Amino acid sequence: MSTSLSSRRPGPNGNDSANNASRLLTLLHHAGGRATRAALTAELGCGRSAAGYALSDLVGRGLVRVDEHPAARRGGAAGPGRPSHEVLIAPTSPVALAVHLRVDTLDVAVVGLGGRVLRVEREPVEARPDVASIFLRISRLLRKLGREAGRPIAGVGLSLPSPVRAEDGYALEPRHLEWAGVPARDLVREGLDEPWPVHAGNDANLAALAEHRHGAGRGARQLLYVTTEHIGIGGALISEGGLFGGARGYAMEVGHTTADPDGPACSCGSRGCLELVADTRALLRAAGLPQSPVTGIGYRARVLMEAAERGDEAAARAVDEVAARLGAGLAGLVNLLDPDRILLGGLLATLHSIAARRIVATLGERSFLERAVPVPVMPAALDCGALLGAAELALDQVLQLADAPSATMHSGLGGVARSG
Ligand SMILES: [Zn+2]
Repeated sequence: MSTSLSSRRPGPNGNDSANNASRLLTLLHHAGGRATRAALTAELGCGRSAAGYALSDLVGRGLVRVDEHPAARRGGAAGPGRPSHEVLIAPTSPVALAVHLRVDTLDVAVVGLGGRVLRVEREPVEARPDVASIFLRISRLLRKLGREAGRPIAGVGLSLPSPVRAEDGYALEPRHLEWAGVPARDLVREGLDEPWPVHAGNDANLAALAEHRHGAGRGARQLLYVTTEHIGIGGALISEGGLFGGARGYAMEVGHTTADPDGPACSCGSRGCLELVADTRALLRAAGLPQSPVTGIGYRARVLMEAAERGDEAAARAVDEVAARLGAGLAGLVNLLDPDRILLGGLLATLHSIAARRIVATLGERSFLERAVPVPVMPAALDCGALLGAAELALDQVLQLADAPSATMHSGLGGVARSG
């Protein structure tokens, strides 16, 4: 499907003008797709006429629209009594198709600029799923949603419960799915009948990216994100706006840092990994409850945490124990990474809601950096962060006003793989 992205118009100052338009669109995207013209002009900081030119460029490309009769005056930059026009994402703008594969569910969504989820299709994932059948389902859903979106498709973003090689979207050992390595990005691309660019990334990385752009991580310089969705613990670092991916994109496997050298054997081949002592399985084990079956374990962990909140002593002891271990794990990460904000996602956000004091106290006991400069520990804000983050990979091309889907980009996104 063609897009309006190729209608690049030279501005009075050449690249500066295109750059202003890209920055203005990015500001609007990070503001949820709606902001006053006055606020955008002030934040852009390039003067009113240059901002006006950038805005008309974006309107001409069919990416934004201006509401000239906003119902209520917002912002103060336009002066008292003078309403500032509202700028919104245009309904003709391109959308991303986003895939979030979890251990128990598959979500495929249409996501627009502003981080707006326009449609989601969810299917259950059976235990130990077959690789070929999962990727056939992903391709079928992508083709269907792409056909029915009625909008230009900027590309596909894929979120995987696995370290993902930046170079080619290869998923290294999605072990909670009990898969060996999978060429995930290529499998998705082969199943499509449109030449949509396909991008792939690790789920925790993508959730962190979404939190940094649209959620509780906005404005953080070194954002540490730690999460549990089902079993296991994932982590990510957003450093100066970009994902920290390491040499190959595999960095920040915080769940497999050693918490107890003599602890239980981990599926990664090590022992006593942080995820074995501080995830949902650890919580159930600490309460003397069975950890299997893995299906529904997130629900059982939530029930246990609710019981702790109501005052059940055994549940409260288990929550306290796991919160302390999580705090100790975070202490090592604070010493290593010097974050200015820590976000806890998924079931760890629930744990934080009832045991924040214990998590933070242990963090302080174990980290001298934390004692010197306490780091705010907060729950993540987004319900579907990984899905939104996957969409970001495809929407980045729209934000940069890329002329062609295969344009080379430098977006500061380490740790994700782009097709080109
Ligand atoms: Zn491990």
